[in-house]
Amino acid sequence: MFVTLIFGGNQGDRKALIREAITEMSSIGKIQHCSSLYETAPWGFESSDSFYNQIVTYETDLLPEEVLDKCQATEQKLGRVRTGTQFCSRTMDIDILFCDSRVINTPRLTVPHPRLAQRNFVLAPLNEIMPDFIHPVIHKNMTTLLSECTDTLKAEIIEKSFLNQSV
Ligand code: ADP
Ligand code: MG
Repeated sequence: MFVTLIFGGNQGDRKALIREAITEMSSIGKIQHCSSLYETAPWGFESSDSFYNQIVTYETDLLPEEVLDKCQATEQKLGRVRTGTQFCSRTMDIDILFCDSRVINTPRLTVPHPRLAQRNFVLAPLNEIMPDFIHPVIHKNMTTLLSECTDTLKAEIIEKSFLNQSV
């Protein structure tokens, strides 16, 4: 299965933490694609600390819920404290965007990620690494979703990826 993950954080050494998280998640399988590193204003709440985000696709033999377990273990390891508040400052958030073209709705997991089509900071890096991939629920590709997105928060590249290479 190809699983697409988004890494994000707005606390601490954001760039180093994302690098560490991407490497830690390599235990699920081999990296296939890696986007550039993006900087974005916080989405859904006010904070002076901007977010760094990066999207990576891994090829894995694990089940989706096992990947989620590993995401949450990595968040814990990198110092995230769960406050129960949905949109908040955090050292590391790792979300599953896609698992191949599967549609998953369980108590723990909604895939594709339900809010991805509303957010420039998700669609910009997705469009960079997989522009032709078709969202299995909305049935549009990433280029179309980005062009139709009404999000006004800018997502800016701050470090170019070694596109389509392993890190
Ligand atoms: P958020 O990422 O929405 O800001 P959290 O990281 O605290 O918030 O996640 C809250 C819950 O979302 C997790 O406990 C997890 O079970 C659930 N969840 C549902 N779908 C997904 C997904 N696609 N990726 C990551 N977590 C998900
Ligand atoms: Mg999350």
